[in-house]
Amino acid sequence: MSVPELREAGDITGSRELTRRAVQPTYIPMKNAIYYSLAAAYAEEKGSDCIIGGQNGDDRRLFEDTSEEFFASLQRTISASSPRLRGRGLKIIRPLKDKSKPEVVAFAAGMGVPLELTWSCHGSGERHCWRCDGCRGRMTAFEAAGVQDPLMSKKV
Ligand SMILES: [Zn+2]
Repeated sequence: MSVPELREAGDITGSRELTRRAVQPTYIPMKNAIYYSLAAAYAEEKGSDCIIGGQNGDDRRLFEDTSEEFFASLQRTISASSPRLRGRGLKIIRPLKDKSKPEVVAFAAGMGVPLELTWSCHGSGERHCWRCDGCRGRMTAFEAAGVQDPLMSKKV
């Protein structure tokens, strides 16, 4: 599912307020509130009792909507919004929240995760651009983890 109106702060024309607040250029206003609301709607429809998020410890330092306060508030909001989810005791689980990006890469590689199927680019192309913050962060994390990125052999 894509949400076409969501854009990074660096791509929002006239985003003086966002620039003044010195947010990350990759910050997307209300991103996690929107994504987790969509996930909660899906969970309610499908009868799920958990939502699993992939934020890591590095994200928490950069984005307020990955904080413990945000997720505690979101958990209360979801429960208050849906008697069905409240009845099932829906929980938001974030198993990577205390790991750095290199730790996530090493953990995934150790579990045999097919890392060639993961996506880090903030662009909309069919391949990673290797220039955006997402791609640069990926390269830095793999290097710090000492893991060979299987996508680097496909780098154009
Ligand atoms: Zn990229």
